[in-house]
Amino acid sequence: MTRPLAVLVVLALAVMLSAQEKKKAPTGYTDTPYIPGSKWRVHDDTRPRPAVVTPAPEDAPAKPPADAVVLFDGSNLSKWRTAKGEAPPWKVENGYVEVTPKGGDIFTRDEFGDIQLHVEFRAPTPPQGDSQGRGNGGVFLMNQFEVQVLDSYDNVTYADGQAGAIYGQTPPLANASRKPGEWQSFDIFFTAPRFKDGKVERPPYVTVIHNGVLVQNHTEILGGTRNRNLPGAILPNAKGPIRLQDHNNPTRFRNIWLRPLDEPRP
Ligand code: MG
Repeated sequence: MTRPLAVLVVLALAVMLSAQEKKKAPTGYTDTPYIPGSKWRVHDDTRPRPAVVTPAPEDAPAKPPADAVVLFDGSNLSKWRTAKGEAPPWKVENGYVEVTPKGGDIFTRDEFGDIQLHVEFRAPTPPQGDSQGRGNGGVFLMNQFEVQVLDSYDNVTYADGQAGAIYGQTPPLANASRKPGEWQSFDIFFTAPRFKDGKVERPPYVTVIHNGVLVQNHTEILGGTRNRNLPGAILPNAKGPIRLQDHNNPTRFRNIWLRPLDEPRP
């Protein structure tokens, strides 16, 4: 090999390596603000990752109870809309709906406050990308508070961004993820914020069970979900839509239902 050719080859290799390096998503941050009341930064790279707990094997879809509001039964997205109020472009087939990347987030047409919510999801297989780029999605409560959907099976990311995290605030108590390609479930018990004179009188709380494993235990939600920034203000709304996130990954969802729990109760 001539010297100029050798130099070219070395340069090409260096460019390829640095491109690969750039592709790797960060697994955490060291320059973000501190979460109020916490010793950890938002997406803190040094915050301990939750222990892996192997859940029970994948199961058939859990049938909704008689009083459930069925949001998606596998057949159509008539209960959902885009941000502009249009029919969502996500792909419905074989009893599930798959995120169409660039299709945008989708929202329930109805709004809800306190709820018991059941959602099943499945990360793409074979897995592609890493950290936040692998099987990302999300379930937003009242359109503001994200319970993170991510392929957290053998995929290192920051603790408050793992599957089952209150994104950017509270990591899950355990990593109960199944392998990509296997169906997983969230059972979410959400208490909406209460307001007095336009101010938050009681913050929102959430309990989350991931594949049968408790990952959020009556966790206080600090504010609206933000990326690399402090939680936003809690909007003074009694209700809001459920929002499913398009994070440019073809994540799938199925069997989505909820039971409204608004006061006054019988
Ligand atoms: Mg997400």
